[in-house]
Amino acid sequence: MITCSKVYPDIPFAHRQPKHRGHCALIHGHNWTFTVTFGCSKLDENGFVVDFGDLKYLKQWLADHLDHACVFAEGDPEKDALLAAFPHLFKPYVMACASAEGVARHVFAAFDALVRRHTGDRAFLVELRVDEDHKNFVTYRPA
Ligand SMILES: [Zn+2]
Repeated sequence: MITCSKVYPDIPFAHRQPKHRGHCALIHGHNWTFTVTFGCSKLDENGFVVDFGDLKYLKQWLADHLDHACVFAEGDPEKDALLAAFPHLFKPYVMACASAEGVARHVFAAFDALVRRHTGDRAFLVELRVDEDHKNFVTYRPA
C-alpha cells in the first residue's frame, strides 16, 4: 500500500486523567502534534493518495474542537461541576478517554469519517500519531 502523511503541529489544549494517582490527574496542557497517514483504494487523477490542498476540513476540525480546548473524559467526576462553575473558562470537549491514547482513537475515527466522506470512500486513514509536546507520542493504527 502507498501512503502519504500530513503533520498538524503545535495545537494547544488541556486534559487530565481523573483516575491517575499522580500529576496527570491535574488539568494541564500540551502543544499537541497530529501526524495523519492516509491510504487509498486507488490514486486520484493527479496520482495523489490525497491532495494536501484539499484537507482544510481536517485543520478546521482541529481548530473548532481541540485548539485551546480542555478535553474531559466522559466519566470525569469533576467535569459537570467545573463546567457549571466556570463556563467562561473552558472550551470543553468530551471524549471516552482523555489520555493521548484516547485522543488518538477519537481523532482517528473523526478524521477517517471526514476523509471517506470528502473522497467518496476512495481514501481513508491508516494511522494517526499524536505527540504530547516533544517527548511522548502514541500511535493508533486499527488492527
Ligand atoms: Zn498530559
